[in-house]
Amino acid sequence: MFKKTLHAFATAWKGLNLTFRHLFAARKAREVLDIKQENYFEKQEGVTTIQYPRQAIPIPEVARYQLDVVIDDCIVCDLCAKACPVDCIDIEAIKATEAIGKTSDGSVKRLYAAKFDIDMAKCMYCGLCTVVCPTECITMTDNYDRSFPALTDLVYQFSEMTEKEIEEKRAELARFQAEKEAAKRKP
Ligand code: SF4
Ligand code: SF4
Repeated sequence: MFKKTLHAFATAWKGLNLTFRHLFAARKAREVLDIKQENYFEKQEGVTTIQYPRQAIPIPEVARYQLDVVIDDCIVCDLCAKACPVDCIDIEAIKATEAIGKTSDGSVKRLYAAKFDIDMAKCMYCGLCTVVCPTECITMTDNYDRSFPALTDLVYQFSEMTEKEIEEKRAELARFQAEKEAAKRKP
């Protein structure tokens, strides 16, 4: 009986001790510190969270979050889609009949991006697509606080072509190929 009572008191003391320790530590909120500071993790004092979104903890420069594509700099080479391990990049290219223009790094553009969708619900943020891109137009941004009511809202569309433009470019290419074939058949 005596042993049991002693054990009950010891257990209660242990629990209360932990509660009071947390209560004492909670006097101080977590400070917003720059992650680049030395001993960042050792400097994290206080057990209460920061007042997000009024306060936000800085994120590392190399952090991987929302993908972005500067479509004007994309040569529609499809390398990013081929590198993606989960097939969440969906690209549809239409051949141009002549060079369309140049990207900011001087690469010649010869394909139209009729479709350039990234399903961020499937993305595992590996960053492989950003590594293989020859024009560095697909990048990881620092945008991480997104929420949507439906998974389908996480499909980001980067193509800027309208349905009418897509149809026109397809017809243009079909005409060009037909003319080429006809020219080949001429004696
Ligand atoms: S980060 Fe990885 S998973 Fe996400 S789109 Fe790029 S290659 Fe695919
Ligand atoms: S790898 Fe870069 S240039 Fe090629 S399709 Fe993807 S985003 Fe465009």
